[in-house]
Amino acid sequence: MDTDLLVVGSGFFGLTIAERAADAGLKVTVIDRRSHIGGNAYSEAEPETGIEVHRYGAHLFHTSNERVWEYVNRFTSFTNYVHRVYSTHNNQTFALPVNLHTINQFFNAAYTPDEARALVKEQAGEFEVDSAKNFYEKGIALVGRPLFEAFFAHYTAKQWQTSPEKLSGDIVSRLPVRYNYDNRYFNDKYEGLPVDGYTAWIERMADHPNITVQLNTDFFDTSQPLNKEALVGKMPIVYTGPIDRYFDYSEGNLSWRTLDFEEEVLNVGDYQGTPVMNYPDADVEFTRIHEFKHFHPERKDSYPTDKTVIMREFSRFAERDDEPYYPVNTPEDRTGLLAYRELAKKEENVFFGGRLGTYQYLDMHMAIGSALSMWDNQISQIAQDLKV
Ligand code: UDP
Repeated sequence: MDTDLLVVGSGFFGLTIAERAADAGLKVTVIDRRSHIGGNAYSEAEPETGIEVHRYGAHLFHTSNERVWEYVNRFTSFTNYVHRVYSTHNNQTFALPVNLHTINQFFNAAYTPDEARALVKEQAGEFEVDSAKNFYEKGIALVGRPLFEAFFAHYTAKQWQTSPEKLSGDIVSRLPVRYNYDNRYFNDKYEGLPVDGYTAWIERMADHPNITVQLNTDFFDTSQPLNKEALVGKMPIVYTGPIDRYFDYSEGNLSWRTLDFEEEVLNVGDYQGTPVMNYPDADVEFTRIHEFKHFHPERKDSYPTDKTVIMREFSRFAERDDEPYYPVNTPEDRTGLLAYRELAKKEENVFFGGRLGTYQYLDMHMAIGSALSMWDNQISQIAQDLKV
């Protein structure tokens, strides 16, 4: 077989490794069990309207990492899209992330930044950001109890179905809290959406004479030649699938959340006036609604004016055959993960990466950044050893 490196999974982590390795002269085969490349970043035009739909939920690119920004710009340019999210609670719409406007609207007040800060501190009671031990404590420390109950408690119950005492505080600190009227969702220096869509970007990463992509190919299916049993130990492998799946769940299941989407084409020009509306109340089953045309205002001349595509997002625990999206990462999961990491260390010439391969809640830019580091620190050596 004319392959120096096998990459299992064609998401951003796998493709970054593949692209770097191909550029250094290695022959790379990328396999993916799905019928398309790009993992959960895959998007396509909805056939009736032509509106780009992110098949696995909205993906917003943002980073402050100069190297990652330079790297991704080799494959696509980015629009000047800036992500903003609103949240409809008790039939009233508020701006997220929690900012001075949210606080003043919620309390029907006109607090100054210092007054709002003092109020939240009082409402946070005994909890403090620096000593908070979990999602529950950190969330209350950040925004105080009433705002936590309104915007985080039920949304999080729907999204994770896990006690907020068992969830990491890192999940809630993904969202900034601001004592001014800035409602940008992300703090990063660079932000935007790929001008020609995610799939064009992803395809450009794989478009190299040294890269062969083979879809519909399951690494655990021994009836096809590119399988785990046949290849581990025979060539270097970068594995980006779920780490528990790799070891056949020998240390138990790690818990993952998956998403279900309900997509609709509506005969209205504008359904909700914004790309993402969150629903933080317990009586609504879904967590949010995406309206995809709003991600690309610059395409307004090519998108229909009388139709729109919306997608309601529902979260649930992943069964083994479901696509895993989010590592839940409870204390029990962390114990399991440590056991899997020990096994992974002993797996010679197999490198685990990406959100699924490391069981970490990585954003796209983090997956790409960690792939570039893995390339520098581990995989580039393979190219040198082969003297290509
Ligand atoms: N979150 C929440 N209410 C919201 C938005 C977010 O409680 O309106 C919490 C929730 O637990 C979520 C986490 O903050 O899982 C991170 O939110 P983010 O929008 O970053 O999630 P993602 O887009 O990655 O699903």
